[in-house]
Order: sequence, then C-alpha cells, then structure tokens
Amino acid sequence: MNRPSMAGALFRGLAALSAIFAAASCAYNEELGRNQLAFVPAGQMASLGSTAWNDVTKKEKLSTDPKYVDRLNRVAPKVLRAAGEDPSKWDYKVFDSKALNAFALPGNHFAVYTGIMDIMANDDQLATVVGHEIAHVRANHSGERYSQQVGASVAMQTAQAAIGAGSQTGQLALGALGIGAQYGVLLPFSRKHELEADKLGIVYMNRAGYDANEALKFWTKMGAQGGGKPPEFMSTHPSDTTRIAQIKEIIATLPPRGQ
Ligand SMILES: [Zn+2]
Repeated sequence: MNRPSMAGALFRGLAALSAIFAAASCAYNEELGRNQLAFVPAGQMASLGSTAWNDVTKKEKLSTDPKYVDRLNRVAPKVLRAAGEDPSKWDYKVFDSKALNAFALPGNHFAVYTGIMDIMANDDQLATVVGHEIAHVRANHSGERYSQQVGASVAMQTAQAAIGAGSQTGQLALGALGIGAQYGVLLPFSRKHELEADKLGIVYMNRAGYDANEALKFWTKMGAQGGGKPPEFMSTHPSDTTRIAQIKEIIATLPPRGQ
C-alpha cells in the first residue's frame, strides 16, 4: 500500500471513528435478544464481508455439479425465508473440496463444501448447516468477534482500509474477518456463538418445514468425525455433548414443523 492510500484510509478511519463514538458501541441484536459489542457498523461489516467473499470465490473451486448445486438451491431459499430473509439478497455457493466445511460472511454470503454435503443424509441435514450459517450472519457474530478481538480504533481503521481501494483490499478484508491462509477456513467462533447459531438455525429449519431431529443426527455424526473437523465446527466450540444436549432441549420446545 502506498503512502497516500494509507493516509486516506487513516483519515477515513478517524472520521468514521468519531462518528462511531457519537453512537453507542454496544448494539441490541433483536435476533439474539441481547446486547453485543459492535464497533463497526453493520453496513461496513457487510462491505468487508463482500470484499472477502469476492476474493474467496475467485480462489476456491466452484462446484457446478447439479447433485450439489441443485440441492443447495432447493434448500437455501426455504431456510432463508423462514429466517425472515429475502433469498434474492443472498449469495451462496458450493465449493468443490473434500473439506467438511461451511462458512458465512457478513453481507449475506455463505458457502457449503461438497465434502460436508457428502455426509448429509438428506435435505434436512443440509438445512441444519444452512440454518446455522444464516444464523451467524443474522446474529452479527463476525462483527462482535471482530470488535472483541481488536478493539474500537483498530477495528475501524482496519475495516476502513479494507473497504477502501487498493491492491491488498481482499487480503485485508480476509484478515480482518479471520480467514487464514487457507481460504474458507474462518477463525473459530466462540462456544457461545456456536450454540447461538445452532439454536437459531434449528428454529429456522423447523419453521421452513425441515425435521429438526435430523439436526441432532447430523451434529452427532459431525462429532464422530474426530480431528478431521475444520475450525468452523471444531472442538474449541461447544463440546459435542454440550451441543447435542442443547439441541435436544431446543427440539423439545419447537412448534410443529412449518410454523
Ligand atoms: Zn458456526
């Protein structure tokens, strides 16, 4: 990055920073029913996420196999609508990789890998993962994690620099969102975030008419995958027993499917 663009980024960062401090740094998230730390406004997190998404989708191998793509195109809109989202405002793709992975980015993006789709027994299990990823976005977990980790001033400057023009834009955005050298591998969310995403995801899938008992089967199967699990679903997250116990509790409180 050359000097003028750095100065520009810094200036934009400081200008935005003063605007932020005029507002509260804690935001109430309706979906979660709790306050969360949010130094970077939702619109800027979305820009950051979209920049990272463009970079990742250029580098990952997109699947064009109807076996996977048609399945995602069939399931995702139903779960999105059940979550109160307009599917036309979302961008989701299947990446061709054996990884048992899926991830979401702010700005309404998510990806599911062919590897994880291969172990899904039915559409209900895909709806489980889609619901979980949509939940991370609606809960602004990236924004909260980012704010918690880097603090207000760094959060704003990095976000602004990443959103601003420059050849390193994609890399900056990826780094800011916790995507490592291996694309599609996000820094793990906290246990709390994972449990929240599980909970909301199950509510969405059930409302969309899918069988929440399949979520239980799916996460049990993922739990048995051992060391092969990617950070998104790894054991720094809720222990498998905690996760399963919570899912059982949620299922017991769900309204009938499709409601
Ligand atoms: Zn997750």
